Amino acid sequence: MREGRSVAERLARAAAQWQARHIIPHCARCQEPCCRLRTVVLELEWRQLRALYAIEQSRRSFDATLAAGAGPAHIRKQGAHYFAHGQPCPAFDEQTRRCAVYGTALKPESCTDFPVYQDGDVITADRRCEAVDVDALVAHLAAAGVSVVAEPDREFPELVALVPRAPKRRRHRRDKARSSS
Ligand code: SF4
Ligand code: SF4
Repeated sequence: MREGRSVAERLARAAAQWQARHIIPHCARCQEPCCRLRTVVLELEWRQLRALYAIEQSRRSFDATLAAGAGPAHIRKQGAHYFAHGQPCPAFDEQTRRCAVYGTALKPESCTDFPVYQDGDVITADRRCEAVDVDALVAHLAAAGVSVVAEPDREFPELVALVPRAPKRRRHRRDKARSSS
């Protein structure tokens, strides 16, 4: 029942529905697949990077190579994570448009979430995905019982935060009594 779910739960459910109905069916005919990593950056853990990019070096050795500027130019490290950009993901099959690590622990979480992310009571839609229609997504969330306001990110306007509207305060009977006295 809709009433029994929190806003975050309703958003999570609605966002998953949206991905399944409107994003995934579009991927096979997408003009600019995200997996080419031309417009988006892929965030990876070491175990994922090592497997996807068939790295045979130890992590320490690979990190040292990167730090010396002698590693792959399309991979950089920040903190504990690695970021790939500028060359297609090696797990992406351009012919079939399929991901070779789909459904496995090697698939980065950011791939599964893209292009609609949830963080608590806020959904973020990434318009770098051509299948994202913010107005339609807002209508979909409203139909799921959550009215949201779309707020493009100031620094990166491709990202649009969908923020639940503050509920209108219900006036208590005593408030009405005061205001009418
Ligand atoms: S950009 Fe969007 S539609 Fe295109 S492949 Fe990625 S998720 Fe699918
Ligand atoms: S791991 Fe799979 S979904 Fe993620 S970028 Fe590579 S091919 Fe695409």
